Amino acid sequence: KRILTGETISVNIGKIRVGGDHPPIYIAGPCSVESKEQIMEAAFALKEIGVDVLRGGAFKPRTSPYAFQGLGIQALEYLKEAGEAAGLPIVTELMDEGHMDVVMEYADIIQVGSRNMFNYSLLKTLGGLNKPILLKRGMCATIQEWIMAAEYLALHGNKRIILCERGIRSFDNYTRNTLDLAAVPIMQKETGLPVIVDPSHGTGIKELVAPMSRAALACGADGLMIEVHPDPPCALSDGHQSLTFEEYSRVRKNV
Ligand code: PEP
Ligand code: MN
Repeated sequence: KRILTGETISVNIGKIRVGGDHPPIYIAGPCSVESKEQIMEAAFALKEIGVDVLRGGAFKPRTSPYAFQGLGIQALEYLKEAGEAAGLPIVTELMDEGHMDVVMEYADIIQVGSRNMFNYSLLKTLGGLNKPILLKRGMCATIQEWIMAAEYLALHGNKRIILCERGIRSFDNYTRNTLDLAAVPIMQKETGLPVIVDPSHGTGIKELVAPMSRAALACGADGLMIEVHPDPPCALSDGHQSLTFEEYSRVRKNV
């Protein structure tokens, strides 16, 4: 018998509430925290545009071990400082249990990345925390497997879960991933949890972020997570799918 039965569960992050009848939340920020200046600039610009939560990677799950791996604990400090200065809660990914305590201390929401959705040991540990968890869909996870990953958290005591559809692998590689928007109403109905959409990783193409954001909210998503960078061509990760502040501002106004 499942714990997440479909009965509506809304999640609070400080004063913000997500899920149920609450308006969509907007999470935005760079793929990676690259410097104090970069994340400060992003925090203030995004606050001005109307973002609710600031994102930024500290520990990056890069496909290539030669690619930028993130600034680690230093990034957590910069992200926290920027969030506090601009008045925004922060979300960042926890890659391994070794950094649990430090990420717990800094982050307002702990992100479980696509590659770790199947890390049951990590899910069990996060289930013991009183902290909202942003559970991204595994890139090869079925709906059922994603539901069960959420059940791991809930069974171990943590129902403060926000699900995030971020695209799945399919036969087609025109887009980076295939954004599965049908998963949004399905997961809401099956789990009762808030479901947000990440059109940045979901498509990997910046021009598709605006239309897929509109589509996500049209099908009932509880929020959007979008990559935004002060200077996308110079980003250390995912610049090709990141929006400028101006581009993001247009998305935010027109969804
Ligand atoms: C991210 O949000 O920075 C990220 C790495 O996403 P995903 O785990 O969905 O690939
Ligand atoms: Mn990214």
